[in-house]
This record gives sequence, C-alpha cells and structure tokens, in this order.
Amino acid sequence: MSTTGQIIRCKAAVAWEAGKPLVMEEVEVAPPQKHEVRIKILFTSLCHTDVYFWEAKGQTPLFPRIFGHEAGGIVESVGEGVTDLQPGDHVLPIFTGECGDCPHCHSEESNMCDLLRINTERGGMIHDGESRFSIKGKPIHHFLGTSTFSEYTVVHSGQVAKINPDAPLDKVCIVSCGLSTGLGATLNVAKPKKGQSVAIFGLGAVGLAAAEGARIAGASRIIGVDLNPSRFDQAKKFGVTEFVNPKDHDKPVQQVIAEMTNGGVDRSVECTGSVQAMIQAFECVHDGWGVAVLVGVPSKDDAFKSHPMNFLNERTLKGTFFGNYKPKTDIPGVVEKYMNKELELEKFITHTVPFSEINKAFDYMLKGESIRCIITMGA
Ligand code: NAD
Ligand code: ZN
Repeated sequence: MSTTGQIIRCKAAVAWEAGKPLVMEEVEVAPPQKHEVRIKILFTSLCHTDVYFWEAKGQTPLFPRIFGHEAGGIVESVGEGVTDLQPGDHVLPIFTGECGDCPHCHSEESNMCDLLRINTERGGMIHDGESRFSIKGKPIHHFLGTSTFSEYTVVHSGQVAKINPDAPLDKVCIVSCGLSTGLGATLNVAKPKKGQSVAIFGLGAVGLAAAEGARIAGASRIIGVDLNPSRFDQAKKFGVTEFVNPKDHDKPVQQVIAEMTNGGVDRSVECTGSVQAMIQAFECVHDGWGVAVLVGVPSKDDAFKSHPMNFLNERTLKGTFFGNYKPKTDIPGVVEKYMNKELELEKFITHTVPFSEINKAFDYMLKGESIRCIITMGA
C-alpha cells in the first residue's frame, strides 16, 4: 500500500537532552510539503558536527532533536512543486542547499545559497517553520534540514542530490558531508599546485579527505597534524607523508612546521574545530603566497586572533562549507569519481553498527577510534 500523503510511523534516534544517549522512539513523519521530499534513509554516518550540537557545549542547545546529516536513501514521496525528483530516486541529503535561483547559485564561486545555506539554529522546515516529526503530537526539532537518524525524514528538495542508482549507498553516504567537505576544501579552495607542500590539521574523515585532495593535486609533502597519535598510522593510507603532534614540542606548532619546510607550507587545511588549530593553520603557511583554509566548526564564542602583520606578509586566510561544492550540481559527479575508481571510500569506513546501537558510533568518535562509522537503518 502506498504511503504517499500519509503519516509514516517509524523508528528514530531522538536526542532528548544535551550529551545524553539518543533514545530509540517511534516517531510520526508527516508527508512532504511544498518543495520537500520524504526520504527513506538506508545508511547514515556520524560527523563531528552532529556531536558538537548534541553536546551543545559551545553551541546553542535545541532539544528534543533528531540529529544526522551524512546519509544515503531513496525518495519515498515528493511534495507540491518538486519536479526534479521522484519516488525511487537514490539520493544524498545535504546539510546545505542549492535553490538554483539566488545570486550565490548563479555565481560560479559560491555555494552559499541565500535560501538553503547551512543553518544550525533552525529546528523546523523553511516552508512553514514547523517540524515534520512528532511523538504523540509533540514536535521534535530537525537538524540542518536533514535529520537522518530516522528511518524516514523530510528534506527540502534543494538539499537533495540525485545520484547514480548503481552507487552503493553504504559507501557513498559519506560523500554527503565529510568526504566532499575535505576533498573540496583542498581541490576547490586551497588549490595546491603540483609539487607544493600541504599541512592538514585534524586527521578525522574530513582531514583525511583533505589529504586525499592534496594527493590528487600532486602535493610533494602532506604534513598531518593531530593531538591523537593513533591517527598517524591510519593517515599513512591517505598519503600523509609526515606527522606532527603539537604535544611532542615545546615550541608553537607553526614554528615547528616553518622549520620543517624552510619558512612554511604552501597550503594548509584546518579540519579540527579548535580555534587554536585554526590560528596555527594560518600562521604556518609561507609568507608571499601561503593559503590557509578553515573547515572546522568553531564554538559560538570563539574569536580568531592573529597579528595583522601575518596578513600584510601576503598570506591568505579562507574558509569553506562543504568544500565549496554545489550540492545538487556537483555531488553526483563526486559519486561518479568513486564509481570510476578515482576515489576510494572504503578506507574511510572503520566501523559499522546497526541503527539500534547508534550510541556506539558516538563512543567511537569521542574516543577518537573511528574515522567514519556507518549506521545501518532497519538493523
Ligand atoms: P573528527 O573528530 O573525526 O576529527 C577531528 C580530528 O581533529 C581528531 O583526530 C582530533 O584528534 C583532531 N584535533 C582536535 N583538536 C586538535 C588540535 N587542536 N590540533 C590538532 N588536531 C586536533 O571530526 P570530523 O568529522 O573529521 O570533522 C572535523 C571538523 O570539520 C569538525 O570541526 C566538523 O564540525 C567540521 N566540519 C565542517 C564542515 C564544513 O562544511 N565546514 C563539514 C563537516 C565537518
Ligand atoms: Zn558533517
């Protein structure tokens, strides 16, 4: 029997309170409204951004909420006005969108869509500000417009990338956030030239994807910086050639890197979320031409402080969401790169858990054990 236009009852992992384990609940998922699609999520994974907003230490708390934004699924039904997607399409929901109509969507240089750019504070849908999730009539907030820790979710159609139906969703789900963010931060924003040196701060999935971008760009040296020494062994598989643990040095890490590289690296990409690492990533690039790119999500009260002379000396600081990829236009092509074996995704996936054990994925990330943990829905 078709579920189109009906409320669907399904399982979702609900965060009732900051930092407390998610609770499996039966939720009601309303049908998609204008410009929305309802998606059956098959696989989702955990990104550090989910963990920050779940911990809500340096972020505005909003509970109860359904987290999750890195996922793959199949369209169940579409709302009014959706013409580019239909039931059965294989899709990746994405935390930032593309309306196709605003100055940013028209610009080749930006993916910061006026309507659908990332908004971490919004708990409802853009169309009417309401939530599509409820438990016994009580609304549950959305997260990033994706809320993929649910067997079914409702997403704005501008935040849905339609991909090759032959692509295995248990692998390409990581393209929906971490992989594309890191890869694009290097290839689209830092843009190292062949033979240049690149420092990567933070060797989680995002940082390792940034390293992969550096390898693809033909970087001569890829210097990985992390506080967790167990990251270094894994990172060798991603072409990282040298490692620096700031804890092993008495001097600032920017000075250590400057000494290793005769004045600084050509490019750096920060993928930690630590404001100290952001400053270090900027100050370790070579004067005259160095470019640093910030990717990590800072705490709400963080401030970036560096001496203006560091800029006058011709260093550039940039930042990016989603590696500057336009979600609907560019992401199907990133999936094709995997299908054509230009990109390896398997090495990012260190753990798999059934949906019922989703809290284990949080433990693995908090202990620094996982790169990506895939959560299998319906299991
Ligand atoms: P992760 O937890 O898997 O990896 C982060 C790594 O950074 C860890 O290995 C940790 O040990 C290391 N680290 C932390 N503080 C450090 C410091 N001061 N110096 C050196 N290393 C340090 O996280 P992830 O899922 O790979 O995400 C990385 C960051 O990217 C997070 O801040 C996340 O919120 C952010 N993010 C941003 C975007 C975007 O579009 N800008 C998208 C996705 C994720
Ligand atoms: Zn993410």
